[in-house]
Amino acid sequence: MTHTILVTGGAGYIGSHMVRMLTQQGHNVIVYDNLQRGNADAAGSGKLIVGDLHDSTSLDAVFSKNDIDGVMHFAALAYVGESVTEPAMYYHNNVTGTQCLLDSMRRNNVNSLVFSSTCATYGEPDSLPITENTPQNPINPYGQSKLMVEQMLKDYGVAYGLRSIALRYFNAAGASEDASIGERHDPETHLLPLILFEALRVKAGGDPADTTLKVFGDDFDTRDGTCIRDYIHVNDLCSAHIKAFERMSAQPQLGAEQFNLGVNRGYTVLEVIDACSKVTGVELQYKKIARRAGDPPELVADASLAMRQLQWEPVHADITDSIQHAWNWFVANPPG
Ligand code: UDP
Repeated sequence: MTHTILVTGGAGYIGSHMVRMLTQQGHNVIVYDNLQRGNADAAGSGKLIVGDLHDSTSLDAVFSKNDIDGVMHFAALAYVGESVTEPAMYYHNNVTGTQCLLDSMRRNNVNSLVFSSTCATYGEPDSLPITENTPQNPINPYGQSKLMVEQMLKDYGVAYGLRSIALRYFNAAGASEDASIGERHDPETHLLPLILFEALRVKAGGDPADTTLKVFGDDFDTRDGTCIRDYIHVNDLCSAHIKAFERMSAQPQLGAEQFNLGVNRGYTVLEVIDACSKVTGVELQYKKIARRAGDPPELVADASLAMRQLQWEPVHADITDSIQHAWNWFVANPPG
């Protein structure tokens, strides 16, 4: 069945992959993005409306002019470090912006939303792997802002009948298989792209000893002393959104639900570097430096609830796929 989906943040990294998957499956896609951090060309074949979540007049016009079946809400700020120094920006964009969106949905009788939440809502969990019942104690304003929206969705579900599924992403990685869209952040702070940038530098003739690659802390209580994360391919995240939307369409009585999205497997920073050396053919060197503030030692998902309830399975569970696709993208679209 063909649906018309509003994708907020559809010009961003994960949103643009979502737009592509939806259009490939025959859905009509409207992208709503303020282009503050997104790229207009990344919105691809979606119909791009440049607008801000806080602009209720603009949002109301989008809903009234289009017969929208549901919203996939990616638009948000997502740098943990920046959220610590600029919390006002994070609460304004991620919380107030989302409330404006929800209120516009209410006014226009649109009742289904898939929300990009995060494992950052769990903070530093006492036990692993992380299930949906693990207590949520975020340790930075980014995670807090996402948790506040989760609460808002629960309250709007009870009071106004809003159906929602919050998907708590672990570490998004990878790019489209054909290298036509991928990750483009400025500044880039994420491990995998930074490793691949270093590989590009060496491939271009740079001295491996002058490495730009830094490992933040090697004294964590993990198998090699570096942090462990659960890396999930961006297209696996997107396929879960489609399953979530189908679930809400099939079971309209559902209120607010939450699911973890990961692959149930963790890699240390050194293991990721090693896997990138194999894919790129570059013997990567790195410098070990002090821990980065606020990095929990280990975040690994138990995503079995999503696998069961959404009937979803990640098809790129091996990190090699994410690295290979991201590498193809960066080779074709080098940064800077
Ligand atoms: N990391 C690192 N060097 C970098 C960037 C990240 O060692 O230049 C580590 C970071 O401490 C974390 C892991 O890599 O343990 C993943 O970090 P990233 O920023 O990609 O994602 P996060 O888990 O913070 O969302």
